[in-house]
Amino acid sequence: MTTTGFTPVSASPDALVTRANPRKLWWRVADIMSLSSALQTLPAFSGSTPLARAVDYLRISVTDRCNERCLYCLPEQFQAWLPRSEILTYEEILSIVQIAVERGFKHFRVTGGEPLLRRDLPHFLEELIHTPGVKTVQVTTNGTRLLELADALHQSGLQRLNVSLDALDPSRYHDITHGDVKPVLAGLERARALGFSSLKLNTVLIRHKNEEEIWPLVQFAASLQIPIRFIELMPVSLTEMLTEENFLPVGEVMQMLAQKDTLIPLETKLGHGPAQYYRLEKTGAVVGFIGALTNLHFCESCNKIRLTADGFIRPCLGNHGEYDLKPALRPLVDREELRARLDQSILEKPPEHLFRDNWKPQRIMTAIGG
Ligand code: SAM
Repeated sequence: MTTTGFTPVSASPDALVTRANPRKLWWRVADIMSLSSALQTLPAFSGSTPLARAVDYLRISVTDRCNERCLYCLPEQFQAWLPRSEILTYEEILSIVQIAVERGFKHFRVTGGEPLLRRDLPHFLEELIHTPGVKTVQVTTNGTRLLELADALHQSGLQRLNVSLDALDPSRYHDITHGDVKPVLAGLERARALGFSSLKLNTVLIRHKNEEEIWPLVQFAASLQIPIRFIELMPVSLTEMLTEENFLPVGEVMQMLAQKDTLIPLETKLGHGPAQYYRLEKTGAVVGFIGALTNLHFCESCNKIRLTADGFIRPCLGNHGEYDLKPALRPLVDREELRARLDQSILEKPPEHLFRDNWKPQRIMTAIGG
């Protein structure tokens, strides 16, 4: 037991089996074996460091609305949107940011839902970027409106953009997102031309859906000279996608890539999240892996909490606890109360997610903020 009360677990398959709920193993031991063997042939993760969790990163969901229907995120017929009156105003969000900065927060990510659907986003970003104490601001988008908005985002002072891209092939992209890949690619092109200092791709891994897209996506990222991150499917929504059969572990992807190229670990950390980055020797691609399920050390350095679109702090995506900030915001902002509620949410941040324990999502990802 560490002084923080958190017992780190070893990354052995045995440890996994004893920790997971045997009634519903989210992934198979074979998946873990493939991760382990991938790690033996590749440079090791630096995941055995003691728990060091200075929470300084806030993800802000500015809307629960989305214009795509990713299989793993938003049920096709979903209509239970938050009432507009429940969504925080930009002013309310900025009040929270000011308190967060006083509490040592430095990094902010604006997400959703689809953040580019919210009106006046560039104006809000400009205010956020210029809030004293704010060091970095990033936006995560599905890119469908990027072509229209890239210039305004860039003019707002935004420098960091993550674009979700699960496939390049139009029919596979449509199959996964129910959307059209063309405007996303055009938006990316524009963002590249504008020279955002950090542009990254995010790909959620789904077995049988986008395995064949992995290598083309890596080559595409290399051609644009931007990093791509592969994310393990997490049981964060309500859809039937989240099954063992659909789960594709990052270890397997690393092995797949290792057959095509040599993976060299990056010495320097890219960004403020949990991805482990490698450079592919021949293609020059920079590839990140976010193994939320198979990396048993995933939570040890988790430095983030989330602000939901309706004003709750969610300290961990894989624990249901939320802390309502609204009573400290309405009818008038009470800074003392806001501070107290934010502090409580940080203090009570759970040591690790419960995705491996027969987890049942209660809120969809778009409401919480991805
Ligand atoms: N609409 C924006 C987008 O598509 O990037 C921002 C919100 S989205 C919820 C943020 C990120 O969460 C995306 O990279 C998305 O692919 C990821 N995501 C959503 N559901 C997920 C799941 N079940 N497992 C893993 N990642 C997921």
